[in-house]
Amino acid sequence: MLATSALIPPLATWHFLRGVVQHRRVRPWRGLPDLVLFDRDGTLVRDYPYNGDPALVTPVPGTREAVDALRARGVRVGVVSNQSGVARGLITREQVDACMARLDELLGPFETVQVCPHGPDDGCSCRKPAPGMVKAACAELDVDPARCVVIGDIGADVEAAAAAGATGVLVPTPVTRRAEVEAAPRRAATITGAVEQVLAGEW
Ligand SMILES: [Mg+2]
Ligand SMILES: [Zn+2]
Repeated sequence: MLATSALIPPLATWHFLRGVVQHRRVRPWRGLPDLVLFDRDGTLVRDYPYNGDPALVTPVPGTREAVDALRARGVRVGVVSNQSGVARGLITREQVDACMARLDELLGPFETVQVCPHGPDDGCSCRKPAPGMVKAACAELDVDPARCVVIGDIGADVEAAAAAGATGVLVPTPVTRRAEVEAAPRRAATITGAVEQVLAGEW
């Protein structure tokens, strides 16, 4: 058998191997996305509900390395964040901006930062799970939403991605509802794992 195998022309071997690889691959190779948008609270930083204090902006472990790994591969990075504390009168827009500035110091530079200041009953088109912020970020950076990944910690993040024509990856936290975890088409245990999936073309 060994002697026979050695006589198989290299091209035939290549065709054989290609067939094996294509057969085993579940999804086609997609390469790298052009843009990864992160939810902020509970994803990039610890979730202090309605936080308006820049001093409390605390990155989740591994986040600095994860965003830098994307940037090193030429993937653009941005933020899409619901901040209904503004509509609820709990924090001001200026406080939101100050926290975003602190975020940029810690994990930036971000190529786009989208904020929805509205409440759940305002009927806006930007509050996730609506697709407005994902669409706006893609439009601002001239990226096809189909080449965009959204990484977040709740169902609204992945639903916003899907509604915009992007790909959502859920990184649950202990407070993420179980039904949302089960419904998410793509999941990772940590932000590090999510970025590894994306960089491996598995998105
Ligand atoms: Mg969140
Ligand atoms: Zn909004």
